[in-house]
Amino acid sequence: MITFDNTYTSLPEKFYVKVQPEAVPHPQLFAFNDELARQLGLDLSSLSEEQRAAIFTGQALPEGASSLSLAYAGHQFGQFNPQLGDGRALLLGEVVAPNGERYDIQLKGSGATPWSRGGDGKSWVGPVIREYIVSEAMHHLGVPTTRALAAATTGERVFRESPLPGGIFTRVASSHIRIGTFEYFAARRDTESLKILADYAIDRHYPQCRRAENPYLAFLEEVGQRQAALVAKWMSLGFIHGVMNTDNMAISGETIDYGPCAFMDIFSSQKVFSSIDRGGRYAYGNQIRIAQWNLAQLANCLVPLVDADSNSSVKKLQQCISPLMDIYDEEWLKAMAARFGIFEPRSEDAEIVQAFLSNLEEQGLDFTIEFRRLADWMARKCSEDSPDATEDDGLKSFREMWLRRVGQQSQSLEQVAQQMQQSNPVYIPRNHQVERAIQAALAGDFSVFERMNDCLKKPFEKRDEFAEFELAPEPREVVTATFCGT
Ligand code: AMP
Ligand code: MG
Repeated sequence: MITFDNTYTSLPEKFYVKVQPEAVPHPQLFAFNDELARQLGLDLSSLSEEQRAAIFTGQALPEGASSLSLAYAGHQFGQFNPQLGDGRALLLGEVVAPNGERYDIQLKGSGATPWSRGGDGKSWVGPVIREYIVSEAMHHLGVPTTRALAAATTGERVFRESPLPGGIFTRVASSHIRIGTFEYFAARRDTESLKILADYAIDRHYPQCRRAENPYLAFLEEVGQRQAALVAKWMSLGFIHGVMNTDNMAISGETIDYGPCAFMDIFSSQKVFSSIDRGGRYAYGNQIRIAQWNLAQLANCLVPLVDADSNSSVKKLQQCISPLMDIYDEEWLKAMAARFGIFEPRSEDAEIVQAFLSNLEEQGLDFTIEFRRLADWMARKCSEDSPDATEDDGLKSFREMWLRRVGQQSQSLEQVAQQMQQSNPVYIPRNHQVERAIQAALAGDFSVFERMNDCLKKPFEKRDEFAEFELAPEPREVVTATFCGT
């Protein structure tokens, strides 16, 4: 069974509302992540398929479940909304995994809540499939992220532009505290609740901050470091989150709320996918600036907690976020350098990375394929005696610079090649394939979804049976815009 250990319920009642999930006609699981269930220490072996489906669609709340929708606010595309909250989600409860870590288990699409603002609180299967595939792929690519425990159909039609089959997604996160959760109380000038939230967040995620001279400053610094590292990882993989609103930024530093997100095919530094992002606010190349802007909103919230004198408080908080760009540059270089087989990056190495990226952009090349091609080229160079003969492809000056650099390392070229094989994925969840998995599921066929998940469990290992997932989209398959999750 699930042994819940709920702590959010011990917070004051204004932090959440208790809700009951809605009844659905025919709950059926089409995916269950056994491996994750094991890591969480869930023992569901005694349950029938029906019982499991009932739990992960909210039809039967297990003993000890909390069933809460959480309060939060948020800046959406720069506009502040003082009241968002879980409009289509509920927290089933928290579990402590055998590794000692605490996790939230949340249902998404389980029906209306007091925060639904006229929405139905539901989801159709498309976004459920997208979030399942992409969040699991991110995990296997080594990016901090929420995870997918289960996915179900409800047997109900959900009305969007047309009627679509309903779905419910079960998400696991190290918590659901967002920057927007802080903004909720800050906007109400409820300093008492703000302090309770900050203390809770520190105890849960950054207990080492307790020992700092000022725990709230230390907390902001930690959140900033995690955000910078996270965005650096996204950038190194060509990932675009799509809706970096402050309510979609977890203070744990995990990627959360996969809506109109996407991995780039052809590299473009200003690529935008989201159909609602008309100004390009959340474009690929803007992501760190937005993370910085979001962090400034968190800093604003913390003003009353840091110092009785708000001017001095603001100054101290500003000092905490000012190193963000430097941390990001370092993390970005670390993540990128690994893709080139550079073990101890130096700031000059950014030139090598930039030379490669500029070439991709000028020639309109596929981000993932070209990186992997470079890794394969290095592997061949190590195994052949006469490599390098025919290569004159616009990358000549880059390759000279790069080879000189990797040649100076104490590691052998074999080690370089190995490092590159492990940092340059063969498979990413390409948008046109995610779309294909969704379309097949709409026709009742979940096999594309299943194969894609299987494939993406080992993104760095080339396997012939998954050749279709390596390919860039044909012109007719290119997805130019992704739509919001609802
Ligand atoms: P998101 O797009 O997931 O970041 O959601 C933004 C806000 O809209 C959150 O408060 C959601 O709970 C709410 N929301 C999104 N979809 C729905 C829906 N179908 N019904 C009710 N609320 C929703
Ligand atoms: Mg959201």
